[in-house]
This record gives sequence, C-alpha cells and structure tokens, in this order.
Amino acid sequence: MMAPPLPPVTFTDEPEHIGQLRDTIRRFVAAHAPRDARIQWDRDHRWPRDVYAELNKLGLTALTVPEEYGGAGQDLVAAIAVIEELAQAGPCLAGPYIHTAFYGGMNLSENGSAEQKAEFLPRLARGELFFAYGLSEPDVGGDLASVTTRARLEGDEVVIDGAKRWCTGADWSDYIYTLVRSGPAEDRYRNLSFVLIPTNAPGVRMQDIHHANLRYTASQDVYFDSVRVPAANIVGGPAMWNQGWKLLAGRALDVEKLEITAVAFGIARAALDEAWDYAQARVQFGKPISQHQAVRHKLVVARTKLQAARHMLYHAAWLANEGRPCSAETSMAKLFVADVGVEIALACQQVIGSYALSDAFDMERHVRDLLGMPIVGGSSDMQKNNLASLWKL
Ligand SMILES: Cc1cc2nc3c(=O)[nH]c(=O)nc-3n(C[C@H](O)[C@H](O)[C@H](O)COP(=O)(O)OP(=O)(O)OC[C@H]3O[C@@H](n4cnc5c(N)ncnc54)[C@H](O)[C@@H]3O)c2cc1C
Repeated sequence: MMAPPLPPVTFTDEPEHIGQLRDTIRRFVAAHAPRDARIQWDRDHRWPRDVYAELNKLGLTALTVPEEYGGAGQDLVAAIAVIEELAQAGPCLAGPYIHTAFYGGMNLSENGSAEQKAEFLPRLARGELFFAYGLSEPDVGGDLASVTTRARLEGDEVVIDGAKRWCTGADWSDYIYTLVRSGPAEDRYRNLSFVLIPTNAPGVRMQDIHHANLRYTASQDVYFDSVRVPAANIVGGPAMWNQGWKLLAGRALDVEKLEITAVAFGIARAALDEAWDYAQARVQFGKPISQHQAVRHKLVVARTKLQAARHMLYHAAWLANEGRPCSAETSMAKLFVADVGVEIALACQQVIGSYALSDAFDMERHVRDLLGMPIVGGSSDMQKNNLASLWKL
C-alpha cells in the first residue's frame, strides 16, 4: 500500500499578540532568572516560588482554559510559545507552568466532567493549582496499558492501592492526574481510568528520585495505600470509569506531546544562541572560532535543524489549536524535535569546548536536559510505533 498523502502546508506570520507575549516573557526572564540563580535552582532541584508568583501575574496559565471557565480562551499556539520563551531559562519556570496550564488546564478542559471544569478550571486559569502526572510505574514505562496501580469502587468512593514512579513535582502539586487499573488486567485497554488524587489524602506517601535532567524539581515515587477519594474525582465523572484509554489516546495526549516538544525546542534554541555568541567571541589561532570552517559548519547545520524543528512544532500546534486531527503531526514533532535537540546539544557543546562542561555556561544543563528528551513524554521509539500504526504500515 502507498504511503498516505501529505497534507498541504502554508505559512503565515505569527499573530501580533504572540510576538508581544514573547517580548514580555523575554524581558521577564532576563530580569528575574539570571544565570547565577539558575545554576543554584538546578543544583537544588527546585524552582523559584517568588519569581513564579510574579510571572503568574501575567495571566499565562489562562491560555489553555476556555473563557466560560475564567480562561483567556484556548490559544495553544500562544501557550506553546510561552513554554518556548520560558525555556530560555531552562525548565525552572517552564516546568511549573506546564503543571498548571497543561497537566491541569489542558487535561481538564478536554476531559473533565462539568463539575470538575466548574471546580478546577477557574483556579487553574488563575494559576492557583498544580497537577502532577501519575502514569509511569516501577515496572511500566512506555507500555502504559500495563499499569498495575489498582482502583475499585466502594459506594461513592474510589479506593486506590499501588505505586507510581517518576511522578514529577508530586510533593508540591495539589493533585495527581493518575492512571489506574479499574478492572481485570486481561481487559487491558478497556479497564483503565483516570482519577484525581489529592496529594494530601491519607495513605499517600512519597520518596524523592534525584535525576540528571529537568532539575526544576525532584521527581517522586508515590505510594497509595488504600487511598479513598470521592467517585466525583474520576476524570470525566463516574460515567468515565473504565474509559481511561480513550482519554489517554485523545486530543489531550496530542497536546501533551507538544508541551514537552516545546521545552525541547526552547532549550535547543537557548543552546544554539549560547554557542553562536561564544563562537564569535572566542579567539583561537588569531581569529574568532566562528571563522574556522569546522565550527561555522556545525553552527549553520544546528540552526538549520532548529528551523526545521520550529516548523514541525508550530505546524502541529496550529493543527491542534484548530481542532483538526493531529495525532501524526504531534508524534512526528515529538520524535523529530527531541532527536534533533540531542544533535544540536552535542554540536553546541563541542563549539564551547571545555567551558561547556563547567558551570561557566548554561550549556552543561542544556545538554543534560536535551539528552532526556527522546525518553520523557513518550520515547522516540514509542512515537515511531504510534506513527507506524497510524499510517497502517
Ligand atoms: C526527569 C523525568 C521526569 C519524568 N516525569 C514523569 C511524570 O511526571 N509522569 C510520568 O508518568 N512519567 C514521568 N517520567 C517517565 C517517562 O515518561 C518514562 O521514562 C518514559 O515513558 C519511558 O519509560 P521508561 O524510561 O520506563 O522506558 P521503557 O518503557 O522501559 O523503555 C526502555 C527503552 O526501550 C524502548 N522500548 C520499549 N518498548 C519498546 C517497543 N515496543 N518498541 C521499541 N522500543 C521500545 C524505549 O523506547 C526505551 O528506549 C519522567 C522521566 C524522567 C527521566
């Protein structure tokens, strides 16, 4: 069978309001996230609460929430541009933004029941709540239909037992958006549900995982020991019991792929900017290293890859914002930007040379963060599998 035809693509200028948003965030990042502070936050695995509180006054978390729930109306292209600009400072501001605007605002706008939307979305739009993502488990990575965290209905309550791994930011989030097995394991895709579990519920216990990348926070192992939540906390309401796979494979997941892609793209852009400037300032053998062909070629190729990555990311974001089918485009964007992000990181690291391995530059953090991008948020191999299956290969 022939490959499916590619859709036509046209290009337009970025809307003016997004350009203004970028300028505002650039000024904010320059003023509030200096390099010394970024180094310390990364060492401490933490993000700056005071700086984020200031950022929150700009109302950016409203960009994923419909107007009727107190949001700015969903503007996914703008929200992705916000992540790209915040990522110029690494994940210290982009990370917490995603926990509110995407894990919370985007997911509940798409999948929440009428009651959940009314209760949570206005607070998410104001940036008052943080959500963590509870998908992975000690024995479950890419194969999410195999989760073993169990949930059973008891009257109008759900009782949860099990463990989640890599539940990033669970210790400071208000709720964990948790994928649970709600029926016999053999039914695989037909007995999964999502439940909102308050992080302060009795029976929830956590342990830090320290890691090399995305160190705006520690990640957590989270244990659930007969945790009870109201059945109203089933995402989408009680009618969505055992319907979790539909939520996982729906539009919210398409957008979820873009949010981590935007972080990868933003950090790759920051890495290239740093190497580009350095190459013009550093003199060896009597001239700036940017005048040595091996270096200039590295930078030019990296910039070309970055431009291709930009097109893929924003085209997929535009499709998602228009409500058009975009499962293939979001998977392609995640795959391409994450893989090319690693290539850009390694090329830029070479340009800066020994200093790229010290904290004299942001590069050592950029490299750590970009190396993880083909793994987190659905690995590159998972995206290839998704695409092969979408295209019925
Ligand atoms: C810093 C960090 C933060 C994270 N935050 C979160 C979070 O907030 N919430 C959350 O739920 N998870 C989180 N994760 C987990 C992350 O999403 C998983 O690491 C990811 O899904 C991959 O799972 P795994 O590492 O267990 O790899 P596995 O699934 O065990 O795979 C290992 C390797 O085998 C390959 N592979 C596996 N199966 C196949 C196949 N069928 N075909 C081809 N190749 C295959 C994979 O691509 C990978 O290269 C985080 C991880 C990190 C490092």
